[in-house]
Amino acid sequence: MKHGYVFEDLLLAQKHSYSNRAEILESFVCGCFHCGRTFTHTEITTYLYGDTAVCPECNMDSVIGDASGFPIEHDLLYNMRRYWFDGKPFLADLGGEQHLILPGAAADYIKRARYSSNW
Ligand SMILES: [Zn+2]
Repeated sequence: MKHGYVFEDLLLAQKHSYSNRAEILESFVCGCFHCGRTFTHTEITTYLYGDTAVCPECNMDSVIGDASGFPIEHDLLYNMRRYWFDGKPFLADLGGEQHLILPGAAADYIKRARYSSNW
């Protein structure tokens, strides 16, 4: 599948989905990578542990806001959903080679990327 994101983008974006209350409140547009809906932060009424935004549509703690620096658009949310909720591998282009990053293998991928200059 063709997409405009590298795996590091998805990992970074996912980190913005927890302990994100301050960032969400600064965001103009927020989106959920579970249900794909976008909304403003004023629609969010629940923060898990007082600190992590919960989606007003599907009640999952999988919300990111544009103050994260990521555009809240379909391609990003869709690719995140596929990896974290649908259990699909992410097709990464690394140095001109195609690699499948399997669900649950993010930590292994990061280690390999860090210690190999070929990645
Ligand atoms: Zn949702």
